[in-house]
Amino acid sequence: MTSNPIAIAIHGGAGAITRDSTSPEVERAAREELETALHAGHRILTAGGTSLDAVVAAVCVLEDAPRFNAGKGAVLTHDGTVEMEASVMDGGTLRAGAATLLSRVKNPVKLARLILEQSRHVMLSGAGAEALASTNGLELEDNPYFVTPRRIEQLERALAVHPTATELSESEGEAGSTGTVGAVALDGHGNLAAATSTGGMTNKLSGRIGDSPLIGAGTYADNRSAAVSTTGHGEMFLRVAAAHELCARIRHGGASLREAASAVIQEDLSRIGGHGGLIALGPTGEIVFELNAEGMYRGAIDASGKLTTAIFANDPAR
Ligand code: ASP
Repeated sequence: MTSNPIAIAIHGGAGAITRDSTSPEVERAAREELETALHAGHRILTAGGTSLDAVVAAVCVLEDAPRFNAGKGAVLTHDGTVEMEASVMDGGTLRAGAATLLSRVKNPVKLARLILEQSRHVMLSGAGAEALASTNGLELEDNPYFVTPRRIEQLERALAVHPTATELSESEGEAGSTGTVGAVALDGHGNLAAATSTGGMTNKLSGRIGDSPLIGAGTYADNRSAAVSTTGHGEMFLRVAAAHELCARIRHGGASLREAASAVIQEDLSRIGGHGGLIALGPTGEIVFELNAEGMYRGAIDASGKLTTAIFANDPAR
C-alpha cells in the first residue's frame, strides 16, 4: 500500500455513439463492462502493483468483451478477416511494445507487453509476432472465436456502400464500427503507463495499420508529461502523432494536461477533419477525457477513489 496517488482511466472507443443508436440496456451493460475493467486495473494499483500491470489487466477485460472492437468482437477487414493490433508503453523507462496484423492472439495487449519486456524490438507483426506469442505460452484462438454476428453485419453494410477494395471509405462514421479499447494508469511508485488495443476499422484493407499500435500516435506514456491512449479515425491520429503531440505540448509548450488534450483533439485533429477522442492521465493523477465525436465509452477511478463512467459526449462524468 502507498500514500502516493493512484488512478486509472479507460476507453472503449469513440465515434457515432448516440442515444438513438443505442438502448438503455446496451448502455447499462457497457457501463458494467467498463466498471469491471476499471476494477481489474485498480485492484492491482491498490495492492502496490505497477501501472503497466494495471493497464494490461484493464485492457484484457475489454478485449474479452465482444462489445468492444478488440480481441473477441474485433471488426472485420474488407476480406472478412480479423487483423488486430495493440501497444503498451511504460512512462518511467519509455520502454514500449507493439504488435500488429494479428489474427490468432486472444489478448493482443499481452503480446505487446511481452514484446516490451522480452524482446529487443518495439514492434512486431503478423506471423513473427504470433510465433513469439505461441513460444511464450500466450493463448491463441482460431478465427471463429473473434468473429461475432454483429461485426459480420457491420461489414455487410459497409460493403453494400463500398463494394470494391479501391474505394474504401468513411465507414468509421457508422454507428458501432468503433470500440477500440485503451487504458492509462498511475501507480503508487509514480509511474505512468498506457495501453491500446483494436481490430482497426470496419472494411479496412487487409494489411492496413492504424494508430493504435503506433507509439506516439495511439499510445504514449512519459512520467514527465502524461499517459495517453487514443481512439477514432486512425489515419488522422497518425497524421498528427496525437499521443506524443499531447505530451510534447505539456513538456515543451508548458500546456496543462487539459489544454494539451483539448488542443490535440479540437485543434490538430479537427483541422484535418478527424474525429475521435482520447484519455490522458498526468503524473499527479489528473484525468482528462477529450473527444470531438458523438460519444466515447469511458470511465475512471480517480485519485480519490471515485468511479465514474460515461458514454455520450455530454454525459456529466468527464
Ligand atoms: N483508432 C482505431 C483505428 O483506426 C479505430 C478506433 O479507435 O475505433 O484503427
